[in-house]
Amino acid sequence: MTDPVPPADLSDSSVPSDLPPPSSETAAPPDTPAPPDPNAAHLIKYSILTPHGRLNGQLAIPVGATMGLGELAFNAMGVGEQLVRMGVDYSEKLGREISCCKGCGACCRQVVPLSPPEALMIADLVAGARSPRNSILALRFSAAESVLKQAGLTNRFATTPETDAAGMELARNYFLLNMACPFLEEESCSIHPYRPSMCREYLVTSPAAWCASPYAHTIERVPVSVRLSRSLALLTGELLEEPPRLIPLTLAVQFARENKPLATRQWEAKPMIERLIELMSAA
Ligand code: SF4
Repeated sequence: MTDPVPPADLSDSSVPSDLPPPSSETAAPPDTPAPPDPNAAHLIKYSILTPHGRLNGQLAIPVGATMGLGELAFNAMGVGEQLVRMGVDYSEKLGREISCCKGCGACCRQVVPLSPPEALMIADLVAGARSPRNSILALRFSAAESVLKQAGLTNRFATTPETDAAGMELARNYFLLNMACPFLEEESCSIHPYRPSMCREYLVTSPAAWCASPYAHTIERVPVSVRLSRSLALLTGELLEEPPRLIPLTLAVQFARENKPLATRQWEAKPMIERLIELMSAA
């Protein structure tokens, strides 16, 4: 996997860090099993067939590694990016050029649905930002939470809309609030390398200016056949044995605050990643 972001630390956090270092002078008893090789890794190969071609790659997962949902989203971004690139290549072969340009943040006032892992990743980014940026971002997220609450949309986003029409109506109500994403600065994304999958996938070939009034035009988007956020949401639903759900980016910090055990929970990394690839392959 060519990943545009630095890889997350996959070391097993369950190993106590206060153990004394092994002494080379202390001989192990003859029947002591050999310690696990810290460099041993599972190689997970994937081959995802999409209407725009096949995406092949492999991931190395340290044996015994555990992973939280936020880390999973972070590590899956590279695969999502490659799937978007395939959609871009397909569009360009048809002569449809991407019209998105630097300094155009028109789409950043639309609702950005995140899977729970991506919401936790975004909340981590905000929490990890250095002060005073951390304070500024926290204030912006808090303001957005208030706007959504006053508009009566918070509860409506707590469950998945029952029909596509209801989902579109909710998205339209959100857009009418004219609320910029907390990460939008001077009409540019301030977390560009870490932007969630839905933002990566939102590339258009219709005039960029149309995105400021998407309900007045037919926006032509680059086709992305496998949506990472959807697969991550399905996987989370399976892990938690509950219906899959999506969270608006502006409520990501609130979601993490209200789901603290989920933010710190760890799963065995290998089967979790293998299942994510299965879900992406079946999309
Ligand atoms: S994360 Fe970045 S690209 Fe996505 S909506 Fe916010 S500012 Fe725009």
